Amino acid sequence: MIVTRFAPSPTGLLHLGHAYSALFAWRLARDSGGKFLLRIEDIDRGRCREEFAGAIFEDLAWLGLDWDGEVRRQSGHFDDYRAALARLDAMGVLYPCFCTRADITGAASAPHGGEGPIYPGTCRALPAEERRRRIEAGTAYALRLDVAKALARTGPLDWSDEEVGRIVADPLALGDVVLARKDTPASYHLAVTIDDAIQDVTLVTRARDLFPATHIHRLLQALLDLPVPRWRHHALLTDADGKRFAKRDRAMAIQSLREEGRTPEEVLTLAAKK
Ligand code: GLU
Repeated sequence: MIVTRFAPSPTGLLHLGHAYSALFAWRLARDSGGKFLLRIEDIDRGRCREEFAGAIFEDLAWLGLDWDGEVRRQSGHFDDYRAALARLDAMGVLYPCFCTRADITGAASAPHGGEGPIYPGTCRALPAEERRRRIEAGTAYALRLDVAKALARTGPLDWSDEEVGRIVADPLALGDVVLARKDTPASYHLAVTIDDAIQDVTLVTRARDLFPATHIHRLLQALLDLPVPRWRHHALLTDADGKRFAKRDRAMAIQSLREEGRTPEEVLTLAAKK
């Protein structure tokens, strides 16, 4: 049975791009007699707002995109993420990173990946004694995955995208990603991987801008012995000028379209056409 999910972050109102993404996952589930799940990705307590979570439920219900079972909210599951971090730590594939954002953007050699500068690995080389000293001094730190070490442990990996085919995993391309942030004991990469496994998602659908992230998720699955789903990265919706939709752009918000008097069918047609 196919199990898909829609996993928005409540940091703003859903727009047409989200409607497309939700419809994409919902249809694959409904056309095959499978399940469509809803997950609220709200680990970032500073940016997520309850009113936006409420608006997500309301917009999806208005669009007629019904979900199965209970909604999973990531903010209620930090214990699951902590447990995964403890397992990774025991394998020796994590290290504390004390760098600030400015340290990283300022590093001359930092090439830029999809998610901003790729971490140059500064703290990977810190001697154990220095790490201990900084931690004892109360310096805030994130936990990063030592990708090369992790990959040496798992060996070469591949994964499958239904639109592209078989892909050799290249997790090194994103550098040593953060798995626990300084202010949050989890990160997008960690939470999304754990949750897709816990929720028995068999087909992960999301926009193509997240394609590079899948290399890391595949690596985490191998390290943590998690089931490997299939993926389908769909086109990223853009506005008439070819710019991707932004949550701050109210005109394309589903709520605005609804207030203008559009029907759910019209909004879904607009989203599907984009
Ligand atoms: N929460 C992510 C977002 O809103 C989507 C995560 C995913 O589908 O993997 O962009």
